[in-house]
Amino acid sequence: MRIAIIGTGYVGLVTGAGLAETGNAVTCIDRDQGKITKLLDGKIPFFEPGLDDLVMRNVKGGRLQFANTIADGIKDAQVIFLAVGTPSASDGSADLSQVLDAASEVGRNLKDYAVVVTKSTVPVGTADKVRARLQETAKVPFAVCSNPEFLKEGDAVNDFLKPDRIVVGTDDDRARKVLEDLYSPFIIREHKVYFMDVRSAEMTKYAANAMLATKISFINEIANLCEKVGADVELVRKGIGSDSRIGTAFIYPGLGYGGSCFPKDVKAIIHTGQEYGQKLSILEAVDSVNQRQRGRLLEKIMMHFGGKGQDKTVGIWGVSFKPRTDDIREAPALSLMEGFLSAGMKVRAYDPVGMENAKQLKLGKDVHWATDAQDAIKGAHAMVLCTEWSEFRQPDWTAVKRDMAAPVVFDGRNIYDPIRMRELGFTYFGIGRRVDNR
Ligand code: NAD
Repeated sequence: MRIAIIGTGYVGLVTGAGLAETGNAVTCIDRDQGKITKLLDGKIPFFEPGLDDLVMRNVKGGRLQFANTIADGIKDAQVIFLAVGTPSASDGSADLSQVLDAASEVGRNLKDYAVVVTKSTVPVGTADKVRARLQETAKVPFAVCSNPEFLKEGDAVNDFLKPDRIVVGTDDDRARKVLEDLYSPFIIREHKVYFMDVRSAEMTKYAANAMLATKISFINEIANLCEKVGADVELVRKGIGSDSRIGTAFIYPGLGYGGSCFPKDVKAIIHTGQEYGQKLSILEAVDSVNQRQRGRLLEKIMMHFGGKGQDKTVGIWGVSFKPRTDDIREAPALSLMEGFLSAGMKVRAYDPVGMENAKQLKLGKDVHWATDAQDAIKGAHAMVLCTEWSEFRQPDWTAVKRDMAAPVVFDGRNIYDPIRMRELGFTYFGIGRRVDNR
């Protein structure tokens, strides 16, 4: 099948390369000429494990191409995916301008029947808006479907090639047949494609992310109470996770959820509720617990320094919002670093792949970007673990202690054992951990 993907970011490029892998002829389109130039030079514009091999194999095989304009890229396409960004607007709603602008451009350039599919995360009712935009300019028939994406950065290739499920929203039989064919190679073993109406498909994506965010805010709130009452959230987490109705996934306490999806998607579904006169009380709480959690570690660290940090240095381990990605959007490390810098502290930071993106930010010039984890803690009065990259799990603690100005560790992801850290001579702070009385 001939496929066009509009938006060659984390979702668009993985989708494009994944669909090329099963034999389709795919063109990935992006208006960012820099991204397209990199791809044409054989470089992947962002870090995603396994993606370079998948892209290069399919480029070599002649199944994957790149284009800078929608007019060039959608020629002859039978299926056109919209995989552009849907960031938060200032009122919390999803800003649909990229989706709707792309839809207008598609309409102007459609030459034959095509199935236009929203893969971006978009609020209920967006497919109707996309259809209306296409109708304004298209001179040929088309269908509009919803096919939200569930891949996780850091494991995106695997998630796309071996999905837990594929959700397709359509009320058009011809379009359904096209998407059934397209996805048939991905569902050989089990029936995992859920066809439904468009609005339910759009809602499924928000409900999934809202549920996951809820689990995170829930365990963070329990962790905070554990600290107050002298319980250890890591024991509590295991204790509750062993109940199969609860499960162990996604109940890890930490610095609050970040990234390019959960914060904006929780806000957007709350906004949808407001539009329809339905207050989403749980999700409002999930959002506000998360915002508090994002500030809590900073408060703890400032308290440790007696409220004055001017002459202090902090070493940050991990800048990306989670391991195995260079995505720093809404990363907890960024707000921490901003807090330290505005308190007049010196910040040294290291991340295996996220530093290049962070250097471009306003705070980029005020941070000392370290060459490795050991360099980041040199002369530091505290180390703050923000992202649980594997390489941070078993450092040479003797060397760390030797090079720090004070042996103090704030473990934002609970990856270290508090007792061992104390035995090694560190002052250790985790999230919801019981350190003193065990
Ligand atoms: P991204 O910012 O990495 O990529 C979006 C790309 O679209 C950018 O490269 C941008 O230049 C391009 N673009 C915007 N308008 C365009 C136009 N008119 N023509 C051509 N290109 C255009 O975004 P992403 O992380 O891939 O997310 C895309 C969508 O998928 C969002 O709605 C997001 O919520 C959703 N999503 C993301 C993830 C994830 O883990 N990143 C997972 C599931 C769903």
